[in-house]
Amino acid sequence: FLPHLVASMQKMEETYIMIKPDGVQRGLVGEIISRFEKKGFKLTGLKLFKCPQELAEVCALSPCFCSYFCREHYKDLNSKPFFPKLIGYITSGPVVCMAWEGDGVVASARKLIGATNPLQAEPGTIRGDLAVQTGRNVVHGSDSPENGKREIALWFKEGELCEWTPAQAPWLLE
Ligand code: GDP
Ligand code: MG
Repeated sequence: FLPHLVASMQKMEETYIMIKPDGVQRGLVGEIISRFEKKGFKLTGLKLFKCPQELAEVCALSPCFCSYFCREHYKDLNSKPFFPKLIGYITSGPVVCMAWEGDGVVASARKLIGATNPLQAEPGTIRGDLAVQTGRNVVHGSDSPENGKREIALWFKEGELCEWTPAQAPWLLE
């Protein structure tokens, strides 16, 4: 059991997964978390983030600290015509922020999530099973290990992440 313990204590690849406001409003939080949990990845960070009520109106008019996260998160897309709509969508309600760890977790999570356009996402994937439009595609997953690190550092504060060894490690890792 010792090698598994050591392996599971080493920092593996990490990815940032976020359940978008539509996923939360539609009651899909448990369903989405369970897909990553059942696969065998390790959850190291989990929280709800909501723009404080008193700032919601200001948020709609100009950038505030809440939309800052989304603007920074999606900075590569800021010249796209759909960017303002995307920021409006992501700041429209609570999101569930998650950090997941595991060998190859970035690419594997993208496969579990499915194509950006839910109509093109394969059945069996989260978007393929649970969504119909690109602008309401319920979940985000980092597209590279570098962005995984960057996005986790953006959305989580120091001390919010949890280092732990799952009891099932020896039954998942050879
Ligand atoms: P992802 O990595 O699969 O999430 O896709 P991208 O990084 O290309 O885009 C980020 C997010 O922007 C997507 O998940 C969508 O929510 C949104 N998005 C991308 N393209 C479009 C579009 O053409 N229209 C709208 N409304 N949203 C888009
Ligand atoms: Mg992306």
